[in-house]
Amino acid sequence: MSYAERALKTLSAGNRVLLRAVDEASLLQEMCRVIVQLGGYRMAWVGRVEQDAEKSIRPLAHYGFEAGFLEQAHFTWADDGADHGPTAQAVRTGKPAIVQDIATLTSPDLPVPISEPLQRGYAAVAAFPLSVDGRVIGNLSIFAGEPDAFDQRETELLGEMAEDLAFGIATLRIRARHRAAEATIRRMAYVDALTGLANRTALQEQLDAAIDLAHRQHQSLAVLLVKVGRFQEISDTLGYQEGNALLVEMAGRLQGLLPKQRIARVGEDEFALILAAVGAEAATQTARQITRNVCQPVNLAGLAIDAHAHVGMALYPGHGSTADELLRGAKIAAVQARQGDGYYAIYHGAADQESRRRLTLMSDLRRAIDDNELQLYCQPKVGIAAGNICGAEALVRWIHPEHGAIATGQFVALAERAGLMMPLTRWVLETAFRQSHSWHEAGIDCPLAVNLSAQDLRDPQLIERIAGLFATWAMPPRLIQFELTESALMEDPAGALETLLRLKELGVELFIDDFGTGYSSLSYLQKLPVDALKIDQSFVGSMLSNVGSAVIVRSTIELGHNLGLGVVAEGVESEALWNRLQLLGCDTAQGYFVSQPVPAEGLPAWLGKAPWHSEALAAIG
Ligand code: C2E
Ligand code: MG
Ligand code: MG
Repeated sequence: MSYAERALKTLSAGNRVLLRAVDEASLLQEMCRVIVQLGGYRMAWVGRVEQDAEKSIRPLAHYGFEAGFLEQAHFTWADDGADHGPTAQAVRTGKPAIVQDIATLTSPDLPVPISEPLQRGYAAVAAFPLSVDGRVIGNLSIFAGEPDAFDQRETELLGEMAEDLAFGIATLRIRARHRAAEATIRRMAYVDALTGLANRTALQEQLDAAIDLAHRQHQSLAVLLVKVGRFQEISDTLGYQEGNALLVEMAGRLQGLLPKQRIARVGEDEFALILAAVGAEAATQTARQITRNVCQPVNLAGLAIDAHAHVGMALYPGHGSTADELLRGAKIAAVQARQGDGYYAIYHGAADQESRRRLTLMSDLRRAIDDNELQLYCQPKVGIAAGNICGAEALVRWIHPEHGAIATGQFVALAERAGLMMPLTRWVLETAFRQSHSWHEAGIDCPLAVNLSAQDLRDPQLIERIAGLFATWAMPPRLIQFELTESALMEDPAGALETLLRLKELGVELFIDDFGTGYSSLSYLQKLPVDALKIDQSFVGSMLSNVGSAVIVRSTIELGHNLGLGVVAEGVESEALWNRLQLLGCDTAQGYFVSQPVPAEGLPAWLGKAPWHSEALAAIG
């Protein structure tokens, strides 16, 4: 077999190795093996070019008769003018370096004394660079037993093989990078980026496995859902980053109580835990521990903010046998805990029906707003002294296609909870402006008061939207008024004051609704740019039978007047109430005695036939 023939044979065997390669280490090893076994060379080795201070070349794989040769040698690719042998030369120049008849070498700088290769029967050596992306990353060096080996043809063929090997290495590295990227993506699909905890997908899989195990071992298990309190409020007022900081702090506190692998973030402000082999009693104990630990103040934006959380619990198998059922049960229980007076609750089925009804109602309400299924009613307000109509309050109504009329208080509360307040208010505002404009056109100057909720006060676009509506309809500011409940103002007194000041700049009149139920202080009240108080109907309705209510009504009228504010009594259901309020000097009455709320478009007709007819005409005129 000629030298060229053995090189050709080696080349084709090398190609097969390349095709089968799965990782770099075994590729190098296999390559060295076929070179020696099929090509009949004495020894082959592959080294890696290091970027260390010595510029060393580190052997990675070899095959053939070596007998400690590589161990002894200290290969370097240092460019210091010395002759470090053919491998160093190939690495430095990027070209093959051949030495035929090693015995004739005389260089004192070789990595090993010349006797070492000769003793091992190495008579000639060919060193090839391994280049990836134009950079030499290693070498393939081959020793032959024949002093005249590595003629031009053989060197060319082996050089081709070295190039293929380098290509194979590059391909494997790209593949390894892809695998690493895939692993990262897979990890990301299971990890919550903010807290580093497992996410909902991961929890669901863990829970499936835990349920499976519990089923086989006839064990129970508990799922706890921790709903962090005030997240929305903190995000809205202090900003998104502080909201996130609250969640990270809560995640940390939970991890202080339980091993990390058992906690997951399953919703924006919700964490879930799986407690294996645990019943109701132990789950409750953990829930108690969580609420105690989590209810410490949190430092946010330099403020010590009260933190709390509600924990809902659901148990396998009692409350469900799938991950979905248990998570849903735990979530409902957390909501029940929030609505009740404790911080934790175990799921109990009955309320589920109720929540399901509420959930359907929520989506129905969303649709009702979009499809214009709501109606605007209004209820007149009458001046007590003169008996004149001095305005009307806009009240929204919803006739559900299946369930009929839904109590307004109920679906307004639902909209608050479901984040539907903004679209609802937008609908009411647009309808109220359109209505008020048509009255104005018809010569009826009846101010229409729109109710705003706590959420509306936090809506950064509220003022702009209202200003836009005034501009659109070219309406004088006196024709639209706003009512804000005292409790809504007290949710965020400072923020509310700011919004009220901006509303007032539009020139509108403002009323504090349900006054007496919201615990505002006198000093706060004095700062508010409002025009009137509306005494809550619970006091008005009972003022004739309850001394306490009577005192509240009388002192509210005095307080309002002392502050220079008008006073409206709501819930005036009878003539007796009317008369008493007149005696007390109350300014305005609203209630069934005057009128039930009527469809807004029906107001002009009501004005025509109401007992306040003559005064109403005066108001219209
Ligand atoms: P509110 O603003 O205090 O409205 C007065 C409520 O008392 C209305 O209930 C009205 O129908 C009722 N009412 C009027 N006269 C009498 C009476 O003589 N006796 C009794 N017992 N009740 C009387 P409604 O329409 O069910 O509204 C309930 C609450 O829902 C309202 O209380 C208001 O806070 C809220 N609401 C209504 N419409 C809207 C709206 O468009 N936007 C917002 N944000 N809230 C609204
Ligand atoms: Mg009102
Ligand atoms: Mg009210």
